[in-house]
This record gives sequence, structure tokens and C-alpha cells, in this order.
Amino acid sequence: MARAGVAAIKAALTCIDEAELIELTRELVRIPSVVRPGDPTATEAAVARYVEAWLTKQGFDLEVQEVAPGRPNVLAWLGEAEGGRSLLLEGHTDVVTEGDPGEWTHPPFAAELADGRIYGRGAADMKGGVAAMMIAAAAIKRSGAALGGRLVLGALVDEEGEMIGVKHLCTTPIGRGLSAAIVCEPEQNEVCLEQRGVVWARIAIRGRMAHGAMPEAGVNPITALGALLQEVPALERRFRKLCRKSPHLRPPTVTPTVVRAPVQGVEQANVIPSRVKALLDIRLTSGPDEATVASEIDATCRRVMARCPGSVVEWEPVSGFRLATKVERSEPLVRAVVAGVRQATGRRAVFGGVPGSTDGTILRMQLGIPIVTCGPGGRRIPHQVDEYVEIAELVDAAKIYVASALTYLGT
Ligand SMILES: [Zn+2]
Repeated sequence: MARAGVAAIKAALTCIDEAELIELTRELVRIPSVVRPGDPTATEAAVARYVEAWLTKQGFDLEVQEVAPGRPNVLAWLGEAEGGRSLLLEGHTDVVTEGDPGEWTHPPFAAELADGRIYGRGAADMKGGVAAMMIAAAAIKRSGAALGGRLVLGALVDEEGEMIGVKHLCTTPIGRGLSAAIVCEPEQNEVCLEQRGVVWARIAIRGRMAHGAMPEAGVNPITALGALLQEVPALERRFRKLCRKSPHLRPPTVTPTVVRAPVQGVEQANVIPSRVKALLDIRLTSGPDEATVASEIDATCRRVMARCPGSVVEWEPVSGFRLATKVERSEPLVRAVVAGVRQATGRRAVFGGVPGSTDGTILRMQLGIPIVTCGPGGRRIPHQVDEYVEIAELVDAAKIYVASALTYLGT
């Protein structure tokens, strides 16, 4: 592990301004960044501009990457990468829909303060985490610490969608130069070394159209759809055998989430459709690679075809494979974060696991770098009404990022 003086860490910790952190989080929550397809003004652009302006004012070097129209990644950095490590503190600027605002006790974009919490869509997932990493980097900068490497901040777009922000980052020089990342997603500041993976399998079943009175003249793909649903528990059992057990993650699950028949045309009671489709949401723990996952789904499709002669069953992954990730406790990044939690909070690190996939999944898969997910906000709070972040957790997160970054990069 690189050496960081205790004095340097202490000096940077005292540069965290709690009131500034609260206000920054509230400002970010007040800028709605729900991405609404079809509405070019409903993107991350406004919040990204705010982040860019704030970081510019603090004197950071910056790069704005226009990933798609109105969808910019904001990257900022401190220190030199040459010869040292390059650590990314990562967050996303998009938030999920607020749903029916009438269901909220605290309006979704008002960033109300109550009971030591900030309320609003994205308070936990994850404008709180973005604010905490910005304040942490600013504190390090203000302390005048001479970093032994480069600290990079990434406020990326589209984590809640296709993850185009992080996929783009991985193709750029800043992304390719990274040595490790802390993903600041809401995990109640637990140190998460594992994330469940997800594969969305879009299954297309073809039969042959016919009159409902003469089913023998066609091939009914709905029969095959039924067989597919019957095969789901067996597929889930296979994945549970293939994947490693984790004390922090639920075992693999295979869940049908969409079925549609017919795919095209009008619904008519006397017409056997030619095509139907289904989506399976497959959650995995670490172990199998892409080819193994694919061959299990292939085998399920073949079993369905064997049970339903004449039907053709094919599948493809929706937005690729997001496999489960795991890093070892011996990784320098993990040791730095564990030490950082102790230095920042005086408490021992609590280990945890991320139930879904994050931008960290892509960083791990595409760059092969170690990632730790650790950030403020309850794990179950995201995407609910009356989402909130505890201010105490927010402050702890900023401190953890300061101590972890200085420990990992050295001074
Ligand atoms: Zn998130």
C-alpha cells in the first residue's frame, strides 16, 4: 500500500465542510435528471452542467465527454497519473422516475430537510454520493496534499439505463488509465466487494399461424412459451449450482418479467399467432463466464424446442452480459478503503454486497480494475417514494473517500 501520512489525512478531513456538503446535495436533488425518452430536455445535462461549474470553480482540471446529445459525462482530476496510481471516485447523474408525486410526503425535487435527512428523488441514488465525492476531492485539494497519483472524479450518465456513460468512459484515455475505482452508490457505507450480475434474456419463439379451429394446421408458439416458463425453475437451479455462494448476496434467481403474445397484429381469439416473446431477468453471483451463462440459456431453449416440435426458440441478451463482480480482500484498494473507514469514522469496516449491477460492473468487466462499492444511503431506499439520505451517513462517506483516496494514492 502506498504511504499516506496520518497528518495529511487529518488535515484533509478538517477541510470537509458539512454545511457545504448538505447544500451541494440539496442543489443536485433540486435539479431533476430523470431521463424521459422523447423529451430532449429531460436528461442529465442540467445537473452535469452544475457539477462542471462547481468543479471548475474549485480549480479542478476537467473534461466533458458528450456521450450522446444532451448526455455529458463530467470528469475532473487532481494530481498526475504518470508513475502513480489513478483512482476513480464514480457516481451517476441520472435518477429514476419520481412516479406519482402525489404519493410523496416530501416533494420529490424539493430536497427538504427533516429528521437529519435530505429527502428527494436521487437523494440516496445517488446525488448524495456524487456530492460526497465532490466534497471529498475538494477537501483534498484545499488541504494542499501532494498526491502520489491521480484522483479522478466521474459523474457519468445513464447508469439507470444502458450504462452508455461508463461504457464510453472505458474507451477514453482517462478511463483506460484507471487503476481502481470506488463506486459511490448507496450501500449504507458498507464496503462491498461483490455485486450480483444480471443478464436480461430476450426470448423469441416462432411457430406458424393458423386458424384456432384447426390448430393441427399450425404450430402454436404459446405452447412453447408455457414450456419455457416450466423450464425456469430448472434453469435457476443450474445457475445456483454453477455460481459461488456469497455471505453478502442472495443466490441466483431467474424471473420471467415480460411475456407477450402475439408480438404483432391484433388480438384475435381464433388466430394462432406466429410469434411470441418473453424476457427473463437472470441475477447471478460470481463464477460462470459469458460462454457458460449463454450455454445454459441455449440448453433451455433446446429443451423447449424438443418439447414443442415445430417451434423455434432463440434468445439474445438485452444490453449485453453484466456478470457478477468480486474483488479479493488482499487488493490494495480494499485494504485502503478498510483503513479509510477506520481513519474516517473510528469504526471497523462492515462488509456487504450489492444486490444489482452498477457502473462498477462495466469498469470491472471492461477495464479489469478492482472496484469497491461504498456510499451513503440505505440499500433498500433507491427507487422508492420519499427517498432520503441520512446526513450523518453523507458526512461519513465524504470522510471515507478522503481517507481511502489518500491511503490508496499515497502522498
Ligand atoms: Zn445508482
